[in-house]
Amino acid sequence: MRKKTQLIHGGITGDEKTGAVSVPIYQVSTYAQDGVGKHRGYEYSRTGNPTRFALEELIKELEGGHRGFAFGSGMAAITAILMTFKQGDHIIFTDDVYGGTYRLVSQVITRFGLEASFVDTSDVSNIEKALTDRTKAVYVETPTNPLLKITDLKKVSELAKGKNLTFIVDNTFSTPYWQNPIELGADVVLHSATKYLGGHSDVVAGLVVVNSQELAEDVHFVLNSSGGILGPQDSWLLMRGIKTLGIRMEEIESNTKAFVEFLQDLPEITNIYYPGLEAHKGHDIHQSQARGNGGMISFDVGSGEKADQVLRNVNYFTLAESLGAVESLISVPAMMTHASIPVDRRQELGITDGLVRVSIGLEDIDDLKEDFLQALRK
Ligand SMILES: *Cc1c(COP(=O)(O)O)cnc(C)c1O
Repeated sequence: MRKKTQLIHGGITGDEKTGAVSVPIYQVSTYAQDGVGKHRGYEYSRTGNPTRFALEELIKELEGGHRGFAFGSGMAAITAILMTFKQGDHIIFTDDVYGGTYRLVSQVITRFGLEASFVDTSDVSNIEKALTDRTKAVYVETPTNPLLKITDLKKVSELAKGKNLTFIVDNTFSTPYWQNPIELGADVVLHSATKYLGGHSDVVAGLVVVNSQELAEDVHFVLNSSGGILGPQDSWLLMRGIKTLGIRMEEIESNTKAFVEFLQDLPEITNIYYPGLEAHKGHDIHQSQARGNGGMISFDVGSGEKADQVLRNVNYFTLAESLGAVESLISVPAMMTHASIPVDRRQELGITDGLVRVSIGLEDIDDLKEDFLQALRK
């Protein structure tokens, strides 16, 4: 089954009993048992729910893994994955991971004695240098936010296999439509499904796919013990969103490519970060491991004041955090998502005051171009 078909026909579809073509929303907490200890696959909805299960089967198939799990948010998913480790274990992370992941790891998880290093994983030798005899996992994001840095998934997976490390990939930016880390050797793939998978800025959710029975048992044990599950309504909403992931990602791809070409012709714009550009660092690696470049672009408009002017004057780009929605979104990382990083460190990372990040949506590309231009030249 090809990806676009899999989005519609994958996982569990419809309802056998009634012929309903959409999976029913099982708004239920508990299930009648036929006898003590005798149930029909479901006992209690924290442990398992049929609507959630349909979604979990779907993401499992889309990522080509062994088992899927649905959580109440991307952060709940990441928390559960980290809780499969124990005190004293050491994990190496991509240094510009999602801000919420950095906060969770540096301020919450470390309270329980888990140790973490943050390194630039776009150079695999940095991972090797950070290894200790207690390192148990490598956690990578590619492309990253907001500079779209690329990490070579195959190379990291070879390193991880050699050292017996669990290789975890946050695949939120590429989605399973464009990139499948398990095929490249990852053990765990996770998503903030709040972004492209949901796609309509109307649901907060997290998804996990693991590649082995052992990991599946461990993650389900943590999920059932800690309880950060996704409810049936949101599970249904997410499946509805995923059905159109293919056409959304294709359209976003062509809109984004056109928007980048438009930016390249504007003298005010410098430093365009987009993995589709040949000059982008890691371009070749990204092309070898992903089938598309996604809808994220970062670029410099010259100054913080100019960035502020653009943001105040655009009409079709919504000023908001988040990404991956039908509507185009715009943000200034230095003032928003990365404001808590000290100025010196931000400069070092290339997150200048004039850096603008956009998540291209499904509007008519000519409207997006015209709108951006009037805001830039006001
Ligand atoms: C948004 C995001 C998260 C966190 O997900 P939530 O659904 O907001 O909890 C994690 N990783 C990446 C890359 C994200 O963009």
